[in-house]
Amino acid sequence: MDLARLRTYVIGGGIGGLATALALAQRGADVTVLEQAPEITEVGAGLQISPNGFAVLAALGLRGQLAQASVQAQGVSLRDYRRGQVVALDLQRLARRQYYFVHRADLIDILAQAVRAAGVRLRLLQRVEQVDVQAGTPVLILRDGTKLSADLVVGADGVHSVLRPAILGPAKPRFTGQVAWRAVVPNTQGRGPVAHVHMGPGRHVVSYPLRGGEWLNVVAVREQAEWADESWTAADDPDNLRAHFADFGPEVQGLLAQITEVRRWGLFRHPVAPRWHMGQAALLGDAAHPTLPFLAQGANMALEDAWALAMMVGRHDTLAQALAGYQALRHERACKVINAASANAWKYHLSVPPLRWAAHGALRLGGLLAPDKMVQQFGWLYGYDITRI
Ligand SMILES: Cc1cc2nc3c(=O)[nH]c(=O)nc-3n(C[C@H](O)[C@H](O)[C@H](O)COP(=O)(O)OP(=O)(O)OC[C@H]3O[C@@H](n4cnc5c(N)ncnc54)[C@H](O)[C@@H]3O)c2cc1C
Repeated sequence: MDLARLRTYVIGGGIGGLATALALAQRGADVTVLEQAPEITEVGAGLQISPNGFAVLAALGLRGQLAQASVQAQGVSLRDYRRGQVVALDLQRLARRQYYFVHRADLIDILAQAVRAAGVRLRLLQRVEQVDVQAGTPVLILRDGTKLSADLVVGADGVHSVLRPAILGPAKPRFTGQVAWRAVVPNTQGRGPVAHVHMGPGRHVVSYPLRGGEWLNVVAVREQAEWADESWTAADDPDNLRAHFADFGPEVQGLLAQITEVRRWGLFRHPVAPRWHMGQAALLGDAAHPTLPFLAQGANMALEDAWALAMMVGRHDTLAQALAGYQALRHERACKVINAASANAWKYHLSVPPLRWAAHGALRLGGLLAPDKMVQQFGWLYGYDITRI
């Protein structure tokens, strides 16, 4: 396909949208990103970029920038909420070792700079209200009434996508009975480049260093029956968080004591879109397949999608073939990753002590007897490199 003639609108300037814009522009497409926010930025929080996501950033030419802005992860330490370490997973045993902890705002900055340098138009304060994909040429209607038509529309507009219902009709997400808090605190504990996961009954806390190790990203998850709004940005009183995790050991107490500002969100399960495209429009990232955070793969999947979409558009003669090929390449993997993420919560949250000790004992034994095997069980996830397909 002649990409120079491909007038593309990407809805959403998040990680998925910016990576898609860059991948398409690098292949010669004429790309505009429409972002509803007044600036391209992110509320403070960390992200784990695993080797499968890193492969895409490296192929986009951002290897050095990412490595410079991140902490290269050495391992993950799984810990009982009171007794301490259960087992350590050595991420250096991973085939490509490229596992990073990065501040979301830093990754967004890196992508936004690269996108601008590649000639993409990044338009802010452009909320898309409606997309008409039924007619041949998709039409976008913005909040101010402006109508835009495009050769290709990519919906990288997150969990509350406007494109998804235009393709699939309305969907009802299901509250999982889990609520999460996230915060960033100074690294006064002198923690090295290892993620700690403290596992307690019905709750867990993940923490890892950011920005040269100066800060620690903290995500705390708790099972609770009542519904919470599906927003990433609702503020909560840090004392509520401290009360819910008051029986955790001193390391977690040390983290929680430092929190002055915390955001809370409800975790919802959304079905993976059975169809990712219609006509000349395609869904990508969280808009197609939101995931629970228990495998830290949402952004990594959005990066894989971005590469796959641009690659398919470059390889095929028609958009219909390209978008069908994109879905065929991505659907099964996205389902597998999302199911694995959903299955992970119970492993962290066992409530009955004998069960918890048995599970932790098995983990410890596995880690001692077969450390390579412990890490290699993630080979299907981290060893996958979409840029080599
Ligand atoms: C606390 C937390 C921790 C996480 N940790 C990890 C991790 O460690 N590793 C990992 O891989 N993933 C992680 N994720 C998941 C990851 O952040 C998301 O999966 C990823 O950001 C999805 O990217 P996206 O571009 O698809 O959507 P988003 O990041 O949601 O971006 C969507 C963009 O579209 C814009 N937009 C929305 N609607 C419109 C509209 N109508 N018009 C114009 N613009 C619009 C939004 O303003 C936004 O900028 C985490 C998520 C959370 C909440």
